[in-house]
Amino acid sequence: MTQVDTSNQSCKRNESGTSHACHVSAACNAGSADSPNSSWIVAALDIGGTKIAGALVCYDTEQGCDQASEQGVSPAVPRVKPHVTPRVVNYLSIPTQAHHGGEHVFTRACGLVSELMAQTKLHPHAIGVSAAGVVNPSDGSIAYANNLMPGWTGIQLAQRMQHTHGIPCVSLGDVHAHALGEVRFGCAQGFSSALMVAIGTGLGGAYIVDGHIVTGAHGAAGHLGHSLHHLAAQTVCSCGGVGHAESVTSGTAICARYQGKQIGDPLDETCMGAEISKRAAHGEPHAQDVLRFCGNALGQAIGSWCNLFDPEAVVISGSVVRAGDLWKQALEQGFTEQVMPPLRSTKLLFGSLENNAPLLGAAEYARDSLLCSLDQHV
Ligand SMILES: [Zn+2]
Repeated sequence: MTQVDTSNQSCKRNESGTSHACHVSAACNAGSADSPNSSWIVAALDIGGTKIAGALVCYDTEQGCDQASEQGVSPAVPRVKPHVTPRVVNYLSIPTQAHHGGEHVFTRACGLVSELMAQTKLHPHAIGVSAAGVVNPSDGSIAYANNLMPGWTGIQLAQRMQHTHGIPCVSLGDVHAHALGEVRFGCAQGFSSALMVAIGTGLGGAYIVDGHIVTGAHGAAGHLGHSLHHLAAQTVCSCGGVGHAESVTSGTAICARYQGKQIGDPLDETCMGAEISKRAAHGEPHAQDVLRFCGNALGQAIGSWCNLFDPEAVVISGSVVRAGDLWKQALEQGFTEQVMPPLRSTKLLFGSLENNAPLLGAAEYARDSLLCSLDQHV
C-alpha cells in the first residue's frame, strides 16, 4: 500500500477569489505501471441521488511534465496535449441505493472504481469524484446533504477513497463538476467567466471565473435555487425555506403546478415533465401556461443573477432544457425583462456534454489538485 500523506489540505486562493482544488498531497504516489505510456488516467465518479456513474478519463500526453514535476517532485504529472478533450471510456452506471445510507453509498462508489480497474485492466493515476451535496473544499468531505441522501453528511469521501485505493483522490460538488466540464471542454470553452444553471428535479448552479470554480467559504457557492424569487413569495421550497427560485422553476415545480399540487406533495408519476411537454406541443392550454410560467420565472431569475455576477455566458443544463421551444422562448423573454440593458448580449448557452460533463469536470479537478499540490512543494 502506498504511503498516503493527508496533512496537506489547504491552498492559497488566487487573486480572482476562486479556489483551486488542493486537498490532495503530492506525497501520494499513483501506481501507473499498467497504464499506457501515452495516457494519464483519472477514475471519475458522479455520485447522484439516483445513480452513481463512473468512467476512466484518459488524457493524451506529450513528453515532459507540467510545472513542478519538471523539477523532480514526485509524482510526475505528465504534460497533456493542449486543446484535446480527454477520452471518457468504459462508462458504467449503478443505482445509488441512497436509502440504505451514506456508508452504503460510499462502499458502492469505491466498488465502482474497483470495477473500472478490473474491466479495463488499467490503474488510474488519480480519482476525481463529483458528489451530491455540499462538499467541503478543504478536505473533500460531505459538509451537508439533504434528506434524499440520508447519512451522506459527514462522510470523509476523498480521504477514505484515497486510503482505500492508494491513489490521490479529490471530490467536489456535482454542479461544480458539471460546470467545470462544460467550461473546459463543452459549450463554454474560451469564455472568461460562466454561470452554470442546472435545471432538473431541482435547481443548482455554479460560477466559474478564469476556468476555476468559485467554491465559496463553505463549498456551497452557486446554490441558485435557494435565492429569493418574487413569483415564489408564498411557496415552500424543498429545503423548507419560503420563496425560493427552485419552487417556481424546477422540473418538480413544473409537475406540481401542472397537477395542482404543492412542492413536496406526492406527484402523479404518469404525468411528469416529458408528458407535460408533449401535451403543450399538442396545444393543451394548461400545459402551455405552466411551461410559459416556469420558463419565464427561470429567465427572470437568470437575468437577476447576471446583474449580480455579469458572466460572459450562462450555461443552462439539465433535463428541463428538453421542455420545448415554448419554454425556451418564455425563458429568453423573462431574461430580457430582468437583465440590465448593458448585459442583454450575455450569451445563453445550452450544455453540450450531458452525462460526460461531471466526469470530465471531476477529472480536471483532480489534475488541478495534483498540479497545485506540486506547486506547494517547490
Ligand atoms: Zn430552498
